[in-house]
Order: sequence, then C-alpha cells, then structure tokens
Amino acid sequence: MGKEETEYHKKMGNMFTMCKDEIRLAGVIHESLSNGPGLRRVLFSQGCKHECEGCFNLHTHSFSGGQIFKIDNIVRDILENPMLRGVTFSGGDPLEQAEAFAGIAKKVKAAGKNIWVYTGYTFEYVIENRHERPGFDELLKNIDVLVDGKFDINKKNERLKFRGSSNQRIIDVKKSLEKSQIIVLDYDKGKNL
Ligand code: SF4
Repeated sequence: MGKEETEYHKKMGNMFTMCKDEIRLAGVIHESLSNGPGLRRVLFSQGCKHECEGCFNLHTHSFSGGQIFKIDNIVRDILENPMLRGVTFSGGDPLEQAEAFAGIAKKVKAAGKNIWVYTGYTFEYVIENRHERPGFDELLKNIDVLVDGKFDINKKNERLKFRGSSNQRIIDVKKSLEKSQIIVLDYDKGKNL
C-alpha cells in the first residue's frame, strides 16, 4: 500500500468493525481509463467466494481483509472530482456487499455518473435472487452496466475490451430490465454506453 493510499484511508475513515454506513474495500483507483468507458473511480470490493482459476486478485477473496470506509466519505470524494465520467465497482465481488454498493450507486447516479459493476455471478442468478439477497434489487435499479460471470481461464482473451474471458458479458442493465431479456453491449465492435 503506497503513501498516497494510506493518506486516502485516513481521510475516508479507516476502522476495524463495520456498521451499516460502511463498506469493506480491497483498494481504490482514483482515476482509471481501463475499467469501463471514460475516466472512472474504481472501488475494489473485499470478499469473493467464486475461486476462479487464474484469478489475479487473490488478496480480495478474504471477507475480513481490506480496509473499512465510511460510505458518505467515499461518495463525497467521488463527487468532488468533476472529471469522472463514472464509477466502477469491481472486486472481489461487489454483490457480496450489495446493500453498501447500492447506497453508493444511488447517490452517485443522482449526480449523473455512469455506473459499471463486475461480478462473478451471472445476470440470471442476480435476477433470480434480486428479492432474496439484500441489496440486489436496489443495486440493479441504480447501475448502468453489469459485467457478469466468473473468469474462465480457458476462455481468457487479452484482446477483449473490459472483460477477461469470452464467457463474461457486458450487459446493459436498464434495457435488459425494460425488455425482460439480456441486452449485451459489444465493445469489441465499438458500441458505447
Ligand atoms: S470473481 Fe473475480 S475476484 Fe472473484 S475469484 Fe473470480 S476473478 Fe477472482
């Protein structure tokens, strides 16, 4: 962890126990151009159950690792940067802290930012469990794109844009919910959202 990140943790309110207004993160990229379209804040969730072979984020798997942040501080810090086109929730798996991420998504979305989420769960699983698993429904209502599915090392392709393996789909969540069918965005052919 670099000096800059340590100072960021102090500013965000690092603590040892979690409350409803907190979130556990493995890390933050303040300005990224490679985790979705445009300049983005990237929040890496701490905690993942998927155990994908070849995962390059092993340190994000433990549910007791990472650092705990105040959600309001995370949101304020995002909104203080007018250059950001959007925010990406990555991991780990953000769906394991869906309520906390939904809280961030709601406030950031209201400020006009575009929101992408990466998960090891399939879109079908998320839809099936949207009313059973806390925060799933609220998160779905406040995000633009879900990149779904586990990383499959046998389908790994470094030329794919915004995804690691070809089984993963870049899903337009709003259109998919509206039409009750999965609408996939093909960034490899130049579509944008
Ligand atoms: S979902 Fe992501 S973080 Fe979790 S094991 Fe798979 S590649 Fe790793």
